[in-house]
Amino acid sequence: MYIVPEAMIADLVSREASFEAVEQVFAAMAAKDAYNFPVVREAIGHEDALYGFKGGFDRVGGALGLKAGGYWPHNLEKRGLINHQSTVFLFDPDTGKVRAMVGGNLLTALRTAAASSVSIKHLARADARVMGMVGAGHQATFQLRAALEQRPFEKVIGWNYHPEMLPNIEKVANEAGVPFEAVDLPGMAEADVIISITSAFAPSLMADHVSPGTHLACMGTDTKGKQEVESALLARAKVFTDEVAQSVSIGEAQHAVAAGLIAESDVTEIGAVINGTHPGRTSGDDITLFDGTGVGLQDLAVASKVVDLAIERGVAIEVDF
Ligand code: NAD
Repeated sequence: MYIVPEAMIADLVSREASFEAVEQVFAAMAAKDAYNFPVVREAIGHEDALYGFKGGFDRVGGALGLKAGGYWPHNLEKRGLINHQSTVFLFDPDTGKVRAMVGGNLLTALRTAAASSVSIKHLARADARVMGMVGAGHQATFQLRAALEQRPFEKVIGWNYHPEMLPNIEKVANEAGVPFEAVDLPGMAEADVIISITSAFAPSLMADHVSPGTHLACMGTDTKGKQEVESALLARAKVFTDEVAQSVSIGEAQHAVAAGLIAESDVTEIGAVINGTHPGRTSGDDITLFDGTGVGLQDLAVASKVVDLAIERGVAIEVDF
């Protein structure tokens, strides 16, 4: 088997490679060539940790495996380690033998940023020029960096619940040569694309903060009870997702569906737009909303690419197993 440690990932995989892997696997999911297994997520009663598995199989890409890991809230303060810890395991779909073990921490940020970028490519207006950010934490920086590659954005506007964190995203905008402006939530009406990436359990962005024609990528809600945007916004929007089952149970759509504002059948897999079986945005006035819940197949797709690159460059650690 091959081992690709966390420390190698940054030099191996680019944003472009992650984007391609995620776009392909979303397309395969919609074509029913790839599917995710039910997610396991447990409070293990030790260190207040949440631990679980996200797995799946992509028949076309040949990726079979799982990401194991979770959230250890005391890691940083007690041990100087990051709180999110994960590892990807890949298996040979022909034999069941383990193929690779890959560090999953940076991969998670790259595959999550790739997902919102794929949604921007396929759903945002071609003339989108103002990029809006709701959130300024760890993931937000990756999200913004990737999003700025999808359209010739001329300005980034940002709001965060903790305003002292806004310099995190201002730095990313400035590095990309795009001016940054902090705004209040009604100021988001200027944005053509909005990414929300927070850990909130109550909505910040309301339906009347969003202008017609906007594309939203709601990326923070990945658990029952979390919520970033007002449910009425989903009723106004064309709603897309990575996986419908997750969207309506742990994603942003969970609230709008529970309130009877939209039905499960109103939520479309983005892969259908990529494959050309759904038209996606049909008017410059449509509000499109991508509910990015995060699926195991994204991790497997990017991890497979990493392993191929590590073998190609002769840096993968090979062990008999
Ligand atoms: P982080 O702790 O670095 O940042 C948290 C962000 O949420 C900050 O911007 C913070 O100001 C904001 N926030 C906190 N409390 C808030 C509140 N009450 N109202 C509004 N905003 C609030 O976390 P992160 O690593 O950037 O992750 C952000 C979210 O993304 C988490 O919920 C995480 O679970 C989720 N996530 C989703 C995926 C996916 O695939 N969809 C992948 C990774 C992480």
